[in-house]
Amino acid sequence: METSKILIELAYLAASVCFILGIKRLSKPSSAPAGNRLAAFGMLVAVVATLVYIDTLSPAFIVVGVLIGSALGAWMAIRVQMTGMPEMVALFNGFGGAASGLVAWAYYVRVIVPRAEFFALGGAGGGAAVGDVITVMLSVSVGCVTLTGSILAMLRLSGKIGGAATVYPGQKAINALLALVCLGLMAMVSQSPGNEMSFWVLLSVACVLGVTGLLPVGGGDMPVMISFLNSLSGVAAMLTGFVIKNTMLIVGGSLVGASGIILTNIMCRGMNRSLGSVLFSAVGAATGKTKRRSQDEVPHKTAEDAAAVLENAQTVIITPGYGLAVAQAQHVCRELGDLLTSNGVNVKYAIHPVAGRMPGHMNVLLAEADVSYDQLYEMDEINDEFERTDVCLIIGANDVLNPVAREKDGGPLAGMPILNCDKARIVMIIKRSLSPGFAGVDNPLFYDPKSMMLFGDGKKMVQDIVTEMKG
Ligand code: NDP
Repeated sequence: METSKILIELAYLAASVCFILGIKRLSKPSSAPAGNRLAAFGMLVAVVATLVYIDTLSPAFIVVGVLIGSALGAWMAIRVQMTGMPEMVALFNGFGGAASGLVAWAYYVRVIVPRAEFFALGGAGGGAAVGDVITVMLSVSVGCVTLTGSILAMLRLSGKIGGAATVYPGQKAINALLALVCLGLMAMVSQSPGNEMSFWVLLSVACVLGVTGLLPVGGGDMPVMISFLNSLSGVAAMLTGFVIKNTMLIVGGSLVGASGIILTNIMCRGMNRSLGSVLFSAVGAATGKTKRRSQDEVPHKTAEDAAAVLENAQTVIITPGYGLAVAQAQHVCRELGDLLTSNGVNVKYAIHPVAGRMPGHMNVLLAEADVSYDQLYEMDEINDEFERTDVCLIIGANDVLNPVAREKDGGPLAGMPILNCDKARIVMIIKRSLSPGFAGVDNPLFYDPKSMMLFGDGKKMVQDIVTEMKG
């Protein structure tokens, strides 16, 4: 092997080590920022090594590409609101799939088709290898499914279309048929690689399958869908790595694919469902039973009432949810937690695995506000403590503590393990109305006599409580 190639492979090895150590550090909140930086450095090494390696492209071409890509990325990162992060992450998964699919497509058009045509004209060399063609087909198909599935996820998370699963008669049969058509087309293209028409049909069917395959996943099961798409984007990259024989893409793609599937498994456990039932059973479909409630149905409590109760509490569990992100109430929430702690109250934060709109959403927000990691407790660690707790303060959370999930016919939430907030002696709920959460299921806890409903924006209400307590 030439020295330059050996150096590039060594650079790829170094980048892979950075990725692996970076991912390992992501497992603990305290080491996660350093892990992120290490993985980003690994990516820089990989990109520079690849640019040096691809000496067929003109440097000007590369610089223009890097400038356009970086400008677009920076513009999106600056423009995005914290509440828009989940949609952006979903869209980036899709871009990952699309990028892998595009590279494999280019390989098909520039290498496989010309080879097949050359062979058909009597040229030597035996045409394209079947293994290569199948890998290209798989890469393009998985890339297309990831792209269109991610666009669907983005539209659901942004509220542009409903978040509930969409079901229609014959759905499973239609999806199975589309998957079979994809396999049939792959077989056709691998038999005659020059058959571009079959390739285009395969690409279109895979795009449709990305949407129809993920339509039945919605409601509370969306986190599983997001992690699964994340894993698929890694698989698409890995397959593309095999297509263009790039070690870095194979290793990087495998890491994303494997960590994505582990996350999918964690999210499935968080929902108490198997991946099969999430993908094929449409458990997240809306039941249509939720009626619009008027706030007059429950007594309204004020920040003054809340402050009086909190001043007399000895144990408080703060339960954040998506509304904390919408209100950007994490800093004032930490302020309240610190104030209570300084008053001798034992304060803990309960984190449900699917709270918010992206995996780890609450951990990221609370870490941003410098909430001590020792105060954060996962559902399994804290669930038994609620019944010994004076006050459970819920800030913008809903589905993750909806007691309906314990019922067999609890609709989209049925079977999902929840935080036992309803077991606390007093439950304080801060939200703007009696609207249901993402899964669209009414929450009986709002009407429980021991619940204090504090209607208002999360940040303003918590700020008012802090002011009352300080006053
Ligand atoms: P929910 O979506 O169940 O509830 C959020 C609550 O926040 C709403 O009821 C809303 O009520 C309230 N809210 C919104 N804005 C504000 C505000 N400014 N101030 C105060 N309250 C506000 O969130 P949860 O975190 O409890 O549950 C997450 C849900 O999202 C689950 O169903 C999960 O499956 C799903 N999901 C999770 C993903 C993940 O990866 N974590 C990804 C995709 C979906 P109101 O409008 O009355 O204020």
